[in-house]
Amino acid sequence: MIIGRKIAHKVKVISLRLSVVREKCVHCHRCTERCPVSLPVEAMVDSKLMEHSEYILCGTFADSCNENTIFLGFR
Ligand code: SF4
Repeated sequence: MIIGRKIAHKVKVISLRLSVVREKCVHCHRCTERCPVSLPVEAMVDSKLMEHSEYILCGTFADSCNENTIFLGFR
Protein backbone atom coordinates (compact mmCIF):
# COMPACT_ATOMS: atom_id res chain seq x y z
CA MET A 1 0.00 0.00 0.00
CA ILE A 2 2.85 2.39 0.84
CA ILE A 3 4.61 1.70 -2.45
CA GLY A 4 1.33 2.17 -4.32
CA ARG A 5 0.80 5.56 -2.67
CA LYS A 6 4.34 6.67 -3.45
CA ILE A 7 3.90 5.75 -7.11
CA ALA A 8 0.50 7.49 -7.24
CA HIS A 9 2.02 10.67 -5.83
CA LYS A 10 4.98 10.48 -8.20
CA VAL A 11 2.84 10.16 -11.33
CA LYS A 12 0.22 12.56 -9.93
CA VAL A 13 -2.71 10.12 -9.97
CA ILE A 14 -5.76 11.22 -7.99
CA SER A 15 -5.55 9.42 -4.67
CA LEU A 16 -6.51 9.73 -1.01
CA ARG A 17 -4.26 12.36 0.57
CA LEU A 18 -3.98 14.45 3.68
CA SER A 19 -4.07 18.23 3.62
CA VAL A 20 -3.55 20.68 6.45
CA VAL A 21 -4.27 24.30 7.25
CA ARG A 22 -1.46 24.75 9.74
CA GLU A 23 -2.65 28.18 10.84
CA LYS A 24 -5.80 26.61 12.37
CA CYS A 25 -3.82 24.34 14.70
CA VAL A 26 -4.17 25.25 18.39
CA HIS A 27 -1.63 22.60 19.52
CA CYS A 28 -4.11 20.66 21.63
CA HIS A 29 -2.26 17.34 20.99
CA ARG A 30 -5.51 15.40 20.35
CA CYS A 31 -4.41 14.17 16.92
CA THR A 32 -1.12 12.77 18.17
CA GLU A 33 -2.71 11.21 21.25
CA ARG A 34 -5.43 9.48 19.20
CA CYS A 35 -3.36 8.22 16.29
CA PRO A 36 -3.63 4.38 16.41
CA VAL A 37 -0.11 3.91 15.02
CA SER A 38 1.50 6.62 17.17
CA LEU A 39 2.53 8.97 14.40
CA PRO A 40 3.90 12.40 15.39
CA VAL A 41 0.86 14.07 13.88
CA GLU A 42 1.25 17.48 15.45
CA ALA A 43 4.84 17.68 14.22
CA MET A 44 3.64 16.60 10.77
CA VAL A 45 1.07 19.41 10.82
CA ASP A 46 3.72 21.93 11.89
CA SER A 47 5.98 20.88 9.03
CA LYS A 48 3.08 20.50 6.53
CA LEU A 49 4.65 17.17 5.56
CA MET A 50 1.70 14.82 6.01
CA GLU A 51 3.17 11.82 4.23
CA HIS A 52 4.55 9.20 6.58
CA SER A 53 5.65 5.68 5.65
CA GLU A 54 3.62 4.17 8.51
CA TYR A 55 0.39 6.07 7.81
CA ILE A 56 -2.43 3.55 7.22
CA LEU A 57 -5.09 5.95 5.84
CA CYS A 58 -7.47 5.32 8.73
CA GLY A 59 -8.37 9.02 9.10
CA THR A 60 -8.56 8.85 12.89
CA PHE A 61 -6.41 11.90 13.54
CA ALA A 62 -8.25 13.92 10.89
CA ASP A 63 -11.53 13.08 12.64
CA SER A 64 -10.09 13.92 16.06
CA CYS A 65 -9.21 17.51 15.15
CA ASN A 66 -11.93 19.88 16.34
CA GLU A 67 -10.30 22.81 14.54
CA ASN A 68 -10.65 21.26 11.05
CA THR A 69 -6.92 21.54 10.58
CA ILE A 70 -6.48 18.16 8.88
CA PHE A 71 -8.42 16.97 5.84
CA LEU A 72 -8.46 13.54 4.22
CA GLY A 73 -9.70 13.56 0.65
CA PHE A 74 -9.06 12.73 -2.96
CA ARG A 75 -6.90 15.09 -4.95
S1 SF4 B 1 -5.96 18.01 16.84
FE1 SF4 B 1 -5.93 19.70 15.33
S2 SF4 B 1 -5.66 21.57 16.54
FE2 SF4 B 1 -5.09 19.83 17.87
S3 SF4 B 1 -2.85 19.62 17.61
FE3 SF4 B 1 -3.83 18.25 16.12
S4 SF4 B 1 -3.98 19.48 14.23
FE4 SF4 B 1 -3.61 20.91 15.92
